[in-house]
Amino acid sequence: MAKPKHIKTTVLIIGGGLSGLTLAAVLGAAGVDVVCIDRDPPVSQTALKYDGRTTAISYASHKVLQAAGVWKSLLADCEPILDIRVADGNSPLYLHFASTADGGGAPFGWIIENRLLRQALFKNVRRLKKHVRHLAPAEIKEFIRDNASVGVVLKDGTKITAPLMVGADGRQSATREWLGIAVKKTDYHQTAIVCNVAHALDHENVAVEHFRPAGPFAILPMTRGDKKEYRSSVVWTEHGDDAGRALKLSSADFDKRLQELFGAHLGKVHHVSPPMGYPLGLMHAERYSGDRVALIAEAAHAVHPIAGQGLNLSMRDIAVLAELVVDHLKLGLDIGAPALLKSYESARRSDTVLMAGVTDILNRLFSNNLQTVRAVRGLGLGMVEKLPVLKRYFAKQAMGLSGVSPRIIRGEGL
Ligand SMILES: Cc1cc2nc3c(=O)[nH]c(=O)nc-3n(C[C@H](O)[C@H](O)[C@H](O)COP(=O)(O)OP(=O)(O)OC[C@H]3O[C@@H](n4cnc5c(N)ncnc54)[C@H](O)[C@@H]3O)c2cc1C
Repeated sequence: MAKPKHIKTTVLIIGGGLSGLTLAAVLGAAGVDVVCIDRDPPVSQTALKYDGRTTAISYASHKVLQAAGVWKSLLADCEPILDIRVADGNSPLYLHFASTADGGGAPFGWIIENRLLRQALFKNVRRLKKHVRHLAPAEIKEFIRDNASVGVVLKDGTKITAPLMVGADGRQSATREWLGIAVKKTDYHQTAIVCNVAHALDHENVAVEHFRPAGPFAILPMTRGDKKEYRSSVVWTEHGDDAGRALKLSSADFDKRLQELFGAHLGKVHHVSPPMGYPLGLMHAERYSGDRVALIAEAAHAVHPIAGQGLNLSMRDIAVLAELVVDHLKLGLDIGAPALLKSYESARRSDTVLMAGVTDILNRLFSNNLQTVRAVRGLGLGMVEKLPVLKRYFAKQAMGLSGVSPRIIRGEGL
């Protein structure tokens, strides 16, 4: 019988979703050897029904994708957001952010289908095969550690070890569970219905967010796609039962409801991808690290999509962790040492706490119909609209450019 394989690497990443694959590529592009494992093979991860969402990639995140070596190949599938309109229900009061005035001329971000982002990331890790090994499907039998390394044994007997392991295995992270790290959770009792929609008129690169009592309804500008139709993606939030009913509507009734929600500004609309539901909740791990292990992205935190910032937050985890790993390796230091893990956690926790708090408050403030709260909202929106300094502050937040930036977000190499 053949002896089980033992793969020794520099960084082992558990979970090759959008975050795990991006970290693998950023490290691989900087010459660091990485093994990234995922239980699902690329063919199922890029299927239409695997993930129907789009992502608003912020200006800062595009810098991370640039460092991963994938940005150029994504550009044709990315639609820039040049204007943002925020409306309170059907009230005429709305906030208007223009990239020319409030974003310093750069787009606020770009909308891309998650499926296409995954496809490009898979292709990119194949290009980086000198340094990145991607094993999927790979099922973990057990986690292991000794004094100098940590790792996993897979069901087929393959052992993979490294001085540093990264848990990028999502909300139900097995890595986090193995470390015994508790999480704080809030269930929003809301579901986001997502789908892509074709419409008669051009979106003119405007992203629209309507706050309704059940939650936000966002229309996000997409590229014209293969059929050259005008398209936008929709994130339509409803309370649990209402979402279930909406998802069961016939195709024609679903389009009728969509048309009511869109109004007339984009002409006649119809959905062009299967509507899918995502239950929403806030989740935050009590620690982002354990002995020789760092947690990133949704293994560490998941926020409400009201501001489209979940993956953008994760991209900042990646930028910080990659910089620490590369700097420690250059100095010949142990990358699994507590000093690195402590620096990572202290650099990332406050940003996440802030984003979790802001999205939570926005959701509570906007997703209700109480008269006093509506009055405060109207006052707040009116104030922001009239104060250019405040508008520029919010625009900077949306672009991911507030606070101290890691090197790759500043556009410098690792
Ligand atoms: C409706 C909605 C809209 C959103 N819009 C935006 C947006 O516009 N902008 C934005 O920045 N963010 C957005 N987000 C958030 C964003 O989609 C998520 O943060 C992101 O998809 C999470 O990626 P991840 O890699 O952290 O986790 P996941 O995508 O969950 O990846 C985890 C990976 O780990 C693998 N895995 C899990 N367990 C194991 C195991 N035991 N062994 C091996 N592999 C394992 C899984 O197969 C998976 O591939 C949105 C979220 C929602 C719900």
